[in-house]
Amino acid sequence: MSYALCSTLFMNLQGREIYWNLLPPQLFIVILYSLFIIATAIFLYGAFKHIRLIRMGKKDSRFSFSFIITRITNLIYYGLFQRRILEQPYQGLLHSGILYGFIILFIGTTLVLIQADFGLLILKGTFYKYFSLALDVAGAAILLGLLLAFIKRYVIKPSELKNTQLDDLLVILLLGCIVITGFILEGIRMAATEIPTQSTIRYFSPVGLIVGNLIISTGFKEAFIISIYPLFWLLHLILAMIFIAYIPWSKLMHIFTAPLNIFFSSLTHPGTLTNLDLETAEEFGIAKITDFTWKDLLDLDACTRCGRCDTGCPANLSNKPLQPRQLIQNLKKHLFSQYKKKGGAKPPSNLFPDTVSYDEIWDCTTCLFCRSNCPVFIEHPSKIIEFRRYLVLAESNFPSEVKTMFKNMETNNNPWPVSWDKRTEWCKDMDVRILNEGEKTDVLLWVGCAGTTDERNTKVARHLVKILHKTGIDFAIMGNAERCCGDPARRIGNEYLYQQLANENINTLKKYNFTKILSSCPHCYSTLKNEYHQMGTEFSVIHHTEFLWELIRSGKLSIPQSVPPRRDNPQSVTYHDSCYLGRYNNIYNAPRKVLRSLSDVKFREMPRNYKNSFCCGAGGGRMWMEEKRGTRINQNRIQEAYNTIKDGIVVTACPYCLTMLEDGVKEKELADNLKVRDIAEILI
Ligand code: SF4
Ligand code: SF4
Repeated sequence: MSYALCSTLFMNLQGREIYWNLLPPQLFIVILYSLFIIATAIFLYGAFKHIRLIRMGKKDSRFSFSFIITRITNLIYYGLFQRRILEQPYQGLLHSGILYGFIILFIGTTLVLIQADFGLLILKGTFYKYFSLALDVAGAAILLGLLLAFIKRYVIKPSELKNTQLDDLLVILLLGCIVITGFILEGIRMAATEIPTQSTIRYFSPVGLIVGNLIISTGFKEAFIISIYPLFWLLHLILAMIFIAYIPWSKLMHIFTAPLNIFFSSLTHPGTLTNLDLETAEEFGIAKITDFTWKDLLDLDACTRCGRCDTGCPANLSNKPLQPRQLIQNLKKHLFSQYKKKGGAKPPSNLFPDTVSYDEIWDCTTCLFCRSNCPVFIEHPSKIIEFRRYLVLAESNFPSEVKTMFKNMETNNNPWPVSWDKRTEWCKDMDVRILNEGEKTDVLLWVGCAGTTDERNTKVARHLVKILHKTGIDFAIMGNAERCCGDPARRIGNEYLYQQLANENINTLKKYNFTKILSSCPHCYSTLKNEYHQMGTEFSVIHHTEFLWELIRSGKLSIPQSVPPRRDNPQSVTYHDSCYLGRYNNIYNAPRKVLRSLSDVKFREMPRNYKNSFCCGAGGGRMWMEEKRGTRINQNRIQEAYNTIKDGIVVTACPYCLTMLEDGVKEKELADNLKVRDIAEILI
């Protein structure tokens, strides 16, 4: 039963008389339940449509009983307590007012119905007083929430709420009218009963008391006021029933789909893509709406158009065609268009390029901002990668630049045009042991393609080696036997190439005897740690930010007296979070601890940091694609760094970020102000 019905009944309960001033009460009871049955039937018909569409999706194993506790915890934490929504105070206040107001009124309705229909006298004495107060406060909270929602959408108009629909206004108006008519009913009843008798109970309905006094102040005769009560009661009831019936046909459906989507949200690590069985797979990726799993389709249905995913999407903020909200909404529209095709109509058409454009698919950096910030846990990046898998594996349709990169990976084992047997050139003048089959080392330094073949990033690898030498740690590298971890190939959709490289690496790694793998690349780190286990093996992997902090914390590595390039004291430093280190692997604090431990450093956070950090533009294979559309993502980020420190060092811990940010400094002609350094470079 809706909260509105609660208001309807509750207003009558104040005088302990259900259906106060509704004569004969039997007539109004019949009207109430008749309308309720009609509204429920319309609701069920609409809900059935949603269920049937979601059932069009393929199987997805999200029902395992062993994860039930985690799923319930997520539901309570993120659904009931709205953890993600509350991260934004305005939105949090707005949504809390409406949600918790509804919950209180729903509980109130249930109690009133139990009393009305089962004759149990629950609402009496002190409990009744506070029950009255709770319902009044709940109604006021809903009105406040609706007012804030109206102001945000129609007065402030933030960019993420563009493309407002009529449904947005209808929902605000409908809910607002229900609560207002409820308060008018309460006010009329109090004006006729509790206010004239000066009953103390009137203070437990503060909003009703204000409305009642206002009604009295109008000077209308009491008989007239009482006579219009049944009309308001009917209006209030009809609005409440419209609300119930309207739910499945509007964004209100998220009352059900959002908690469901949170409950069934992925418990797999976000850095672990689904493994394609290339020997048995008959289809690759997603091309049609029916290729999605039921959970993917529930994702589409659960989207509330809140636009939070757009607010930090590097593609959207650099004016590229990809806007995650619109992507999900277009897919949702396509999904609902399938409903009409039931009954032998044409099979679903391909999604590209009419529903999803090629540019949208290739613009994604897989930065994970959208998924990490979506309050209903929609999984955008995995869908985009499935589209890429289809285009790459089934159609060989991908940006031309990628072709060269794939070829390099196939022939050179790295994405750059550097021969595989040049992989140790970067350290040929250093004392670095290359591990042979069967040999042992404590730390296996995974240098990565950037560290071994990209000139700028080889400097980082050399600094890391110097640190390892300084601390006396036993380490070795794989030399030419190390291949690309496969991350760029997998993110671009070339699962064949990824699995080939991963298998070769795993076979080589199994021949060595080591304690842990040390990587300075978050992409290698994440792939080795979160994806190689899909091939039946697990390694202990550590990122160099955590490794370096541990060395400093334990006193094995002394902190340098000055941070190169030192120009003034203290040196201003800011830190850029790599998406694959931060959002993917939750490593935020170790690099900051390292930076804060330096004595001559003035550390400042950029406005977008930690989970809300802004991508450099290179992830998801974008490092090897031209940025032809919109503005440049790296320039956006470097401008933010400049605005934060004006003069100093931008520290990062990722070879992709290092390259992109240095390019950004050059492109914006800020080389006199900003230097970009890997965290290893400032420690020695
Ligand atoms: S993963 Fe990043 S780039 Fe891709 S849609 Fe989400 S926010 Fe945008
Ligand atoms: S995908 Fe999530 S964050 Fe984006 S608009 Fe939909 S509900 Fe909001």
